[in-house]
Parts: sequence; C-alpha cells; structure tokens
Amino acid sequence: MQIEPIRAFEDNYIWAIRQGGHVALVDPGEAAPVLKFLEATGDQLCAILVTHRHGDHIGGIAELVARHPVPVFGPALEAAEVVTHPLADEDHVALPELGVDLTVIGVPGHTLGHIAFYSAGLLFCGDTLFGAGCGRVFEGTLEQMHASLAKLAALPLDTQVYCAHEYTQSCLRFAQVVEPDNAAIATRSSDVARLRSAGKPSVPSTLAEELATNPFLRWDAPAVIAAATARLGHVPANRAATFAAIRLWRDTL
Ligand code: ZN
Ligand code: FE
Repeated sequence: MQIEPIRAFEDNYIWAIRQGGHVALVDPGEAAPVLKFLEATGDQLCAILVTHRHGDHIGGIAELVARHPVPVFGPALEAAEVVTHPLADEDHVALPELGVDLTVIGVPGHTLGHIAFYSAGLLFCGDTLFGAGCGRVFEGTLEQMHASLAKLAALPLDTQVYCAHEYTQSCLRFAQVVEPDNAAIATRSSDVARLRSAGKPSVPSTLAEELATNPFLRWDAPAVIAAATARLGHVPANRAATFAAIRLWRDTL
C-alpha cells in the first residue's frame, strides 16, 4: 500500500491510499486535481473517506461520484449531503480492494461530528491534529477537543499522522514561542524548513514526533504547564485546562 498526497487549494492535502491499481481518497475538497491524478495513474477509485463537513474536505465529492460512483464513508453527524455510509466512534470501514480495515475514532472539537480513520501504523485525522498543531475549536468545547486529542495521543508512537493541511511551519513558530528551549522543536523547524524549500510536504509525521514537538499534545510537559500558568495567572487545574490555555493563546495570534 502506498499513500500519496494530492494537493488542493492553497494548503490542503487529499490523501490517496493506493494498492494494486485501486485508490481510496481522504477528504477530496476539490475534484480537478483528483481527476488529474486518476488519469495520470490509471488507478480505479474504490472509496471516499470524509473526516468532517467543511467545504475544503468535501467540495469535490459530488463531481467525483457523478463520474465514479463509489461509497462515501463519513461522519454520521454531518456531511449527510455526500456521505452514503455514516460512521460513528469505533465503527470499522473495510476496503477490500486495498486490503485495509480502518477503525473510526470520534474526535469532536473542530466540528461536532469530526471523525478520524486509524489502521495499524496510519492515522487520517483531518483538521483535528496538524503537524505541531491542532485544528481550531469551532463547534465543540475545549474540553472535547482535549479529550479527542488525548485519544490520538494514546495511539502507538510509530503511527504516521496524515493530516489535511500543510500548516506545520506556522505551527512550529507558535510551538517555539510556547517552548523556546525545546530542542526537538528547533530540530523539527529546520527539518521542515528544508523540506518546504524543496517543495516537499512536511507530513506525514509520526505520533512520536508530535508528542515531542506539538504544544497541543504536551499538556504534561513542565514548560507547557509553565507557559499556560503565565497566560492564566494561576496553575491550570488539569490537563484539559493546560490545553485550553494554549489553544486560546494560539487563537489570539
Ligand atoms: Zn475543517
Ligand atoms: Fe480544512
């Protein structure tokens, strides 16, 4: 199995999961780059996976299924206009053409219905977790977003994190403000700068890298707790409160 990014809009990645001439897509916000990809590879589309209802994740689906009628697996709580197979937390999606079975993880916060797809070693997390960052909390509560990220943080360390946007560089700039002395953040910043200036994606990362550099997963790190304490004027009551202070700080920048 091969996983390749298809670029869309300014900074979206549509993930193409390929195996033996078949392909499934995650979050095709735009049809044109996908149609080009299908033409170039000769792959046959077998399924579409949707993490949440935002237009930059579902905008291409109507046109794609009009040409290639395939099942659209997505959240039970949203995107009903395109989803044919609604899914909730702990459901499974079997994609026999690709030989893969994905588990659904409910990750409310960015939107209330947001789901992620996980299979051993792979995570497609939409706009919940980014390289060194996390999605804005538009619909859920900060506590919900923290609980969702805690579920992802508990996955195996070698999990490859396939997020939906190329935001890593700006997220790392914020991470350095939160934790100026974190050497892993400094190293990742130069690695990512090198990749981006070569025109390469900074993702996927591994969960281990995220745990070392992503301030939105580092609610147990003394430096992050200290930064949250400085923002709040008091020690955060718990992990969710540390996360909330960092997320609200990010929203002001
Ligand atoms: Zn979104
Ligand atoms: Fe998005």
